[in-house]
Amino acid sequence: MDDPTGTINRTTGNVTLKSATLTFFEKNIEESALYHGINTDERLAATVGHEIEHTTDENIRLNLDGSARVEDEPIKKADEIIKEYQNRKPVAAPNSSEIFRFEKELEDPRRIFHGGGW
Ligand SMILES: [Zn+2]
Repeated sequence: MDDPTGTINRTTGNVTLKSATLTFFEKNIEESALYHGINTDERLAATVGHEIEHTTDENIRLNLDGSARVEDEPIKKADEIIKEYQNRKPVAAPNSSEIFRFEKELEDPRRIFHGGGW
């Protein structure tokens, strides 16, 4: 997130974000996806998670104050999302008997007529 503009109420501590710019670099996302062994959509999701973390009141406050810790939580969030994708259980492909049973069901007109089980 670049160029955030907003205000901090020093009395209440409330922050107001007025505008910010999000720029996604496709090539960086593709390269990072390869590096982490996930696909580009998953890596994009992690990047969006990173950017959403920049919109918390605490992060806007750090950003407007010019704090060096402004990237800490966003990086942590993206890492969590990447790990979730890396640790997901692979979806099992149907075995041949399941495919055969499905083909048999398709050939059975009663199933279609009664509209059951789909
Ligand atoms: Zn960031």
